[in-house]
Amino acid sequence: MSTTRSLTDPQFELFEQLTARPFLVLDTEYCRDPDGDGDRLISLALVPVVRGRRRSATVGELYVEMNPGVPIDAATRAVHGFTDADVARKRRFAFHVGKVLAALARPDAILVAHTGADVRVLRRELERLDEAAQATGRLAPTGLADLPDLPIIDTSTLPRLLRYPGIGNRSVISLADLCRLTGVRNPQAHHARADARTTADVLIQLLIEAARNFTYRDLPSLLAAHDRGTTHTPKLPQYLTGRGLAQRGPGAAHLSRHMSPMVHAATAGEIDDWLGRALECSRLRCPHLRTEAALAAPANGTAILDLLIALLPQLTEPGQPGTLLGAVDALLTGSGPATDPPSKPALAFSRALRWWSQQRARVVASVPCSSLGRCPDCQAAAGCPRDLLYQPVTRIATLGERHVLDVSAIKDRLFGNRSDRRVHAWSERHPRETAYMTWLVATWSVEHDRDDAPFIDVAISKNIHHLEPRLALLACQRIAETHAYTTAKAVADTCLEHASTDPAYDELRLWTTWHEQAAARAAKAQAARVITHPRLARPPGRVHPNPYLPQP
Ligand SMILES: [Zn+2]
Ligand SMILES: [Zn+2]
Ligand SMILES: [Zn+2]
Repeated sequence: MSTTRSLTDPQFELFEQLTARPFLVLDTEYCRDPDGDGDRLISLALVPVVRGRRRSATVGELYVEMNPGVPIDAATRAVHGFTDADVARKRRFAFHVGKVLAALARPDAILVAHTGADVRVLRRELERLDEAAQATGRLAPTGLADLPDLPIIDTSTLPRLLRYPGIGNRSVISLADLCRLTGVRNPQAHHARADARTTADVLIQLLIEAARNFTYRDLPSLLAAHDRGTTHTPKLPQYLTGRGLAQRGPGAAHLSRHMSPMVHAATAGEIDDWLGRALECSRLRCPHLRTEAALAAPANGTAILDLLIALLPQLTEPGQPGTLLGAVDALLTGSGPATDPPSKPALAFSRALRWWSQQRARVVASVPCSSLGRCPDCQAAAGCPRDLLYQPVTRIATLGERHVLDVSAIKDRLFGNRSDRRVHAWSERHPRETAYMTWLVATWSVEHDRDDAPFIDVAISKNIHHLEPRLALLACQRIAETHAYTTAKAVADTCLEHASTDPAYDELRLWTTWHEQAAARAAKAQAARVITHPRLARPPGRVHPNPYLPQP
């Protein structure tokens, strides 16, 4: 944890600038409404940060526990621990609303929360007061209109904006991970008061970092770039609204389901929920499913991989299976020892190809993307996950336990004369995967200044070199060196016969085109030249004037 003492004078001046307005840090614990009517508050904490400091003890803090008015579902109970008996004798939200609104009615304050969920739940509770008053025909004493309009800071997306050290490419981060990054300790996670205090401490760390790097010249410009709206008009984070899909993409009702990504190890109920959302995303060809899966991968990849791909038969329109398989791809690549921080792989390397041989038929049988509907990857011309999924699977199987390729891995596991080497053991049942594995090894060899030819030759001798566009390109180049171009061209043509959306086929096509043009140029250069228009040294009738002669 850093303190303001580590700042230079100009940095400290900026820190004072950034913390000139009071921050009110909100955290809530809540449960689901059994009728699907949003969420209901169980506890709420509001912790002020004034002039860059959270005052010790309970000065100015608000903490209330209440009866949500509905039975607490098992999934949320597992998170915050409140039981029906705990809240049975507590008052309802309507009793506490005055205190909550009074605490928020602080001139010039900024509301801070980790993810947009807390503001959403608070707004929904206030809306319910309005609805109840409407139903009885009375004027609501308090309701949504009484909520002070405060700008919002979301500490789950602010670290990315500030490029906080260690944030990497995570557009959103869990409070627990953020604590690890900033060195803040949360003594009681999922208790609203502890979470709010922790979020406050984390906020201070983020603002110190912002001041240290002079990322923003003042608080208004930071708020403008953060762009999370106000308590009256909260905005979705940019990772959900960006990428220019606002017009044609899924509607706001669906987008709001992406507000709380599953970044922690989830309960069975949360996983059910997540899968329901994934199915809806797939039906809508939603581009956020990939992000959701990448965020869920480190903590939940193992738990959701098989459940997710089992949804495939339910998707019957073009573009839908591709969307789902994009999420499967994100699970495979977003977990494992190579991720930061290292996590349990969604698919163990020893099981990868066995798993794939069970799934392959399902994937092949699914509806491909077409002009009637494209998955987000097809829309970005990145190659359909439906066509590319064998690649992450093969990479996992090839790289093995330590997730690296090196000389001993290649010699002891992948290539060699013994029959247990993967190149022999796999090529019968998984010829295309073996071809991709060969390409991985060949590429690694070239990158490490080693000869890739022996591996390509093995693939050619097994006649699997035309099954994979990347390996086919290497094989064509090798064949063109030693044999005639026409032999290489035949290999390329065979490979291109079963071309898919994989962009590597375009490269192979480009290679043949380029080679044909080069061959045509070479043939032209080789051919004997016939001079049809002999050029004269000096056209008849033209003389060079002598510049030294006096001009006439
Ligand atoms: Zn909490
Ligand atoms: Zn979605
Ligand atoms: Zn597609």
